[in-house]
Amino acid sequence: MMDRYAVIGNPVDHSLSPRIHAAFATRTGEDIEYGRLEAPADGFAGAARRFFAEGGKGLNVTLPFKLDAWRWVESHDDAAASAGAVNTIVVDSKAIRGCNTDGIGLVRDLLDNLGWGLDGARTLVLGAGGAAQGVIEPLKLAGATDLTIANRTLRRAQALAARFGVASAGLDEVGCGWDVVLNATAAGLAGVGGLVATDVVSVSRCYDMFYSLDGATPFCRWAAEQGAGAVSDGLGMLIEQAAEAFYLWRRVRPDTGGIAEALRAGA
Ligand code: NAP
Repeated sequence: MMDRYAVIGNPVDHSLSPRIHAAFATRTGEDIEYGRLEAPADGFAGAARRFFAEGGKGLNVTLPFKLDAWRWVESHDDAAASAGAVNTIVVDSKAIRGCNTDGIGLVRDLLDNLGWGLDGARTLVLGAGGAAQGVIEPLKLAGATDLTIANRTLRRAQALAARFGVASAGLDEVGCGWDVVLNATAAGLAGVGGLVATDVVSVSRCYDMFYSLDGATPFCRWAAEQGAGAVSDGLGMLIEQAAEAFYLWRRVRPDTGGIAEALRAGA
């Protein structure tokens, strides 16, 4: 029987992860099965327990379960421990281990795919939820400076900033002059792109962790209209975090080249 993996979330019907992992399996010659697992909003633990009891080998975890997954697993890798959120679960003979590959996925997309240097880059992160939580430490390690978390609910930005030793602000009080602005809010789901004043993004490279197959997310569209130096959605991050999860499961690193283009072209 093929080793079984899945993405667990709610909803998961539009997840691109099965297509991405199918491409990795083809490229590496690894014989795996990868599906979608929709769990009820209050039913993460039951669904995950059943999946592993039936022989499942690993899960990717997406909205809204990254914190449930962090609480449910038996141990954490360093990235998950620092993030306080789990996006990848690995089962081995010793334990069910929670990992977090979002940070490495983002940094690889920024550095390797887009060529946006982070060393010494003044970096602003919009949002203070699970996605922001997972990327602050990797951004620090990559050399981002003046790292600031801005959020609609200021106290959440303050709490996260205190945990990571960075600055915080409300969305309406952020200054300008950022080299890189990262949108880690869920505002794109509601079609909202204009999160901060025009001069916050007008000379910056702007990255939206939210993604769409045409790349034109509300934040990307809005930032381009304000004159941003470059814009990108988060499809590359999704693919790179998946590649790291694939590596954790299979110990084989898939080549990610061309996958974003193929997905955008509908392949
Ligand atoms: P989350 O934990 O629910 O956090 C939501 C955040 O968005 C909070 O900071 C919230 O602010 C803010 N927010 C929501 N609606 C807003 C609005 N209309 N205006 C301003 N701020 C708003 O979600 P998450 O897990 O962090 O995910 C955030 C986004 O990142 C999602 O779009 C997700 O798809 C994306 N993501 C992408 C990848 C990838 O691989 N590309 C990986 C992870 C996440 P308050 O605190 O004020 O409510």
